[in-house]
Amino acid sequence: MAKSIVSIVKGIDAEKMVEQAVDHLGGVQAFIKRGSTVVIKPNAGHESPPESAVNTSPEVVAAVIRLVKKANPARIILAESSAIGCNTMGCLEVSGIRKAAEDAGIDEIRDIKSDTDLVTKEIAHPTSDITRVELPRFLLEADHLVNVPIFKSHVSMVFSCALKNLKGVVQDMHHYVMHCTNLAAAMMDLGDIVRPDLTIVDMIRPMEGFGPHSGTPADVGCVLAGRDMVAIDATACRIAELPLEKVEFFDAAREKGLGNFDEDQIEILGNSIDEVKHKLYLPYLDGFDAWPEYNFYIEKACSTCQGLLSFTMSKLKSLDQYDSNKGLHIILGRHRKIPEGVEFGKNLLIMGDCGEGVKKRLEKAGKTCMHVTGCPPAEPLPAWMIIDRGELQAANPEEVRQRHVEEELLFKEWLKGQART
Ligand code: SF4
Repeated sequence: MAKSIVSIVKGIDAEKMVEQAVDHLGGVQAFIKRGSTVVIKPNAGHESPPESAVNTSPEVVAAVIRLVKKANPARIILAESSAIGCNTMGCLEVSGIRKAAEDAGIDEIRDIKSDTDLVTKEIAHPTSDITRVELPRFLLEADHLVNVPIFKSHVSMVFSCALKNLKGVVQDMHHYVMHCTNLAAAMMDLGDIVRPDLTIVDMIRPMEGFGPHSGTPADVGCVLAGRDMVAIDATACRIAELPLEKVEFFDAAREKGLGNFDEDQIEILGNSIDEVKHKLYLPYLDGFDAWPEYNFYIEKACSTCQGLLSFTMSKLKSLDQYDSNKGLHIILGRHRKIPEGVEFGKNLLIMGDCGEGVKKRLEKAGKTCMHVTGCPPAEPLPAWMIIDRGELQAANPEEVRQRHVEEELLFKEWLKGQART
């Protein structure tokens, strides 16, 4: 395989950084034909505001649209299918991306989730259980696809960047199926049939900590661009000082032969990796093995709730409540039967609305448990349920607020310590 090229630009002005990153690769005209139809795919997976770093920043999306316009395409479409259970248009609204895209002159915004004109594409040599995928016709018939992810921590894949962002071109059912198979291999299979002409990564304020949506923004201050998504992901990981050999994603990339990730197979233009290097705290390298003192029963759970569970474990550590609650059993996701070996009463916490079924089975069997509801549950509640053993201490809104504020300070301090180690 020929060497891949990735450009890196350090700075603070999104517009200039995006333009310079693409200029290093030969300019936008090298990627976009005059009179073409271009689809731009940001990461707008959750209804979170711009400052949260959950979604691609609106400034970067606007800068990409303005840059693409310089190549005089006939039509530019912004398209997204948000995370399972999320409303795409709501995500585009709250993230600030809809307004930024409209101000930058986008021609059309499309919600892939509600698209009815779908085409089934067979995967030629699948490495996962996925053999075919349904994709919107407009996406397949577009002349160009420009992928605009943000780099962030992700519970299912350790990190989310170029390749992971592509999962937002499928509807909820395929999204769900991909999560239920080997996700890294499924990403490679999807990446084999949906290949962006250009990927531009927002690493200006990426997310560390408990992604995909409870993480913390970090000031890294760079933009990456290139064609090879694997090379871009590898470069972003090197900037974040994430050890590639520990991430399953790159084993799957090797098996699929989808792109380059070895350092000597990637030519870096613009700034060097060393000039922008910034260690990010990405807590999912060890998965749930990082919390061996607790008993987890996880079946078909969304990444959002898995992230929340990791976050909860860390919160217990930060509040010095981890050791005193050791041995707790936690059920997450959709279980067809009561998991074997599970304990009951105040030794069992069921997290999330989809645990309702297993809770009913327990009740039928005359057993009790703690249950924190929500889809997903609100962020501090699982930790509070564990600490208070089902009887929340904060009784009125003011007490709740006060407890939240005090714990947040302790958690942020703890997080800083983790990021430094
Ligand atoms: S409660 Fe269940 S369905 Fe809802 S986000 Fe959590 S795991 Fe997914």
